[in-house]
Amino acid sequence: LLMAYEPAKRLSRMRVSLEGAFVGVRMMFDILDKPDAMLDSADATPLPSVVGEVALRRISFSYDGVHNILDDLSLVFPAGKMTALVGPSGGGKSTIMSLVLRMYDPKSGSVEIDDIDLRAVTRQSLQARTAYVGQNTFLFSASVRENIRMGKRDATDAEVETAAKAAQAHEFIINLPQSYDTPVGENGIFLSGGQRQRLSLARAIIKDAPILLLDEATSALDNQSEFLVREAIAKATIGRTTIIIAHRLSTVLAADEIAFIERGRLVEQGPLSDLLKTKTRFAGLFYSEFSSDQRDEVAGI
Ligand code: ADP
Ligand code: MG
Repeated sequence: LLMAYEPAKRLSRMRVSLEGAFVGVRMMFDILDKPDAMLDSADATPLPSVVGEVALRRISFSYDGVHNILDDLSLVFPAGKMTALVGPSGGGKSTIMSLVLRMYDPKSGSVEIDDIDLRAVTRQSLQARTAYVGQNTFLFSASVRENIRMGKRDATDAEVETAAKAAQAHEFIINLPQSYDTPVGENGIFLSGGQRQRLSLARAIIKDAPILLLDEATSALDNQSEFLVREAIAKATIGRTTIIIAHRLSTVLAADEIAFIERGRLVEQGPLSDLLKTKTRFAGLFYSEFSSDQRDEVAGI
């Protein structure tokens, strides 16, 4: 039974991942566990062209129907700005992203893009306007070029290269044995975490979606990779509504707004300078989590 089941499961995984090349592997499993979340409502309409304000309005959400992971949470991500989600592990940051990507629907409240409830729009149009770059980049068993092209299937080679350059990936790609034709994924060559992340960013860049969701890697990238990824993110996020789960001080500093999430609630939100003015929860985290060396880099703090 297991043997018969496995290939079918793998196939259905493939279909999901081809439809949403930006959904991380873990999220793909989540979708498969929740088949109804895949369906459009009967009167769903495409999301109109987007300004990009994302809003959670009085959201309560539970995975098991018992414990509320998010509890009456309201949070606005301003259009075209970068908002960093910070706070203790397990507080609900990744869950917020899952809701914006509509992996799940909230128990109460609504998730809205430009004031339109996600439940009223087609899944396909939502997918077209959002790009997700997660901690685990899923690579298909295909060439580097094909992996980047997942973001835009009819992209020309020149477009692939432009996106790779913007993602700071071009240099390492042309040094691979077969350049853009090098096989990656299950049967391909090994790429480092930083290289995978930059490929994933290249996919997101070529997709040109107005809303970008980034779950920053927690694992330590080497210095060179970290710098390149940071540069790539800075470029990719210009003019897009960006929600980033931030683990690094450099990311927090690059954000326009910081939202501190704890136990499913929004504790504080504002620009860095505001949050450091008073004895906020964020200030507590800031001074405990980041070394004084890191903080000294920040002029005026
Ligand atoms: P954060 O990203 O801030 O670390 P998460 O959103 O990942 O927090 O998790 C919030 C809470 O939800 C945690 O208690 C976590 O264990 C739980 N959780 C996360 N994903 C799932 C899931 N797919 N099923 C059940 N519980 C989950
Ligand atoms: Mg998380």
